[in-house]
Amino acid sequence: MESKYLQKFYDKSPTERIAALQSAGILDAEAAATLQKGLTLPQEIADNMIENQLSTYDLPYGVALNFLIDGKDYAVPMAIEEPSVIAAASAGAKIIAMAGGFRTTIEKRIMIGQVALKNVPDSSVAQQLIESHQQEILQAANAAHPSIVKRGGGARRVSVRILPADDVEGIPAFLVVHLHVETLEAMGANIINTMMEGVIPYLERLTGGEALMGILTNYATDCLATAECRIPSSLLGRGTLSGDEVRDRLIEAYQFAYIDPYRAVTNNKGIMNGIDAIVLASGNDWRAISAGAHAYASRNGQYRSLTTWKKAENGDLLGSLTLPLPVGAVGGSINFHPAAKMTKEILGYRSASELESIIVSVGLAQNFSAIKALVTEGIQKGHMGLHSRSLAISAGATGDEIEQLSERLKSEKNMNLATAQALLAQIRLDEPHV
Ligand code: NDP
Repeated sequence: MESKYLQKFYDKSPTERIAALQSAGILDAEAAATLQKGLTLPQEIADNMIENQLSTYDLPYGVALNFLIDGKDYAVPMAIEEPSVIAAASAGAKIIAMAGGFRTTIEKRIMIGQVALKNVPDSSVAQQLIESHQQEILQAANAAHPSIVKRGGGARRVSVRILPADDVEGIPAFLVVHLHVETLEAMGANIINTMMEGVIPYLERLTGGEALMGILTNYATDCLATAECRIPSSLLGRGTLSGDEVRDRLIEAYQFAYIDPYRAVTNNKGIMNGIDAIVLASGNDWRAISAGAHAYASRNGQYRSLTTWKKAENGDLLGSLTLPLPVGAVGGSINFHPAAKMTKEILGYRSASELESIIVSVGLAQNFSAIKALVTEGIQKGHMGLHSRSLAISAGATGDEIEQLSERLKSEKNMNLATAQALLAQIRLDEPHV
């Protein structure tokens, strides 16, 4: 990445930013022209994507810079309405890049489908039968979706969970059959759902039970992605706080989010600010990723921080984030939504695993920036500075007024809509709006 073209990126106009990305070799001429035109979703496509479609809902689409992931540079597209997320991701990634960047580990991409059986006459016998007929179950599943087998994927393993009855709540026992499926470059919801419905008749005959449903689980614990970073404390000093002090406060911030669910939820919301924004920009299903991430945060019975921050023996700060990331590089709207296609172009990712590496790194950068601000200067200074633009627009400012009003708002004690409206009226009195 030719970083000289990307200096002071935030100070440029959108047109200049697109030109800078082109000069830096991140965009080719065609992609730059498409971005200049705008990434609008044609009405005809939108109408075929959902039911009762009326129009489209736009979000700002930008890039976070400075991501060095497994030795490769990335500009990361994000679709998000919240100010300061892209700034925070870029700032966090910059420090982490100076420290050598992110290292990621992607587990084999296996998705899980479930069939819930009720009224099974004997759960232990049924479990044994399922285990001894694993090959037949896998065959039935693969026969239901032969094209994924042809591509080299398919159902790989069967496991069984016996959920005992809860007599207090009046909940019957369930025998749950899990199918572990390699879905290759796809997220695999449709593949798995087809397979699960395909194995139901066989499972009912085998166990004598009755299937309640068959569907994938978004708790994709066989599709984990991890990003790690190691930052010398010499890169962490801020104001009057030394690097060692900031490092220790960052670790305490993690410890607080580990023990307190009230803090953990907000800590993880900050992580998902970045993750959801890139997942959405990539055309993937952000509800699926969010649901799985929050379940994973509770995997030990208490909702905790998804990240960990610890001190290395030599005093460096060690950061890590692991979460289920069943995203696809194909499927859904990924190959036809204009913004998703542009995200693929900008990131140049060649596989769903590479996309996972980028997404999990964004989550770690986002958390690093957020907690660093929280334990040093607080987040309001940076956040409200950027929020002032949204307030200016909400107050009705247009054109040059937005910048003018936003600047004036930053020095106000009460930065709110009423103040913005009063200041805008004042600006228009001073310089009548045409
Ligand atoms: P799709 O069914 O849209 O796409 C997957 C298909 O892409 C495969 O079946 C395969 O079809 C084709 N394909 C082409 N190249 C490859 C490759 N290299 N590797 C794998 N497949 C390939 O999507 P998914 O099954 O991934 O499901 C994701 C969609 O399902 C999302 O839109 C999601 O929102 C939605 N969804 C999510 C649910 C949830 O999360 N709970 C529930 C229901 C739906 P072929 O081999 O036949 O060409």
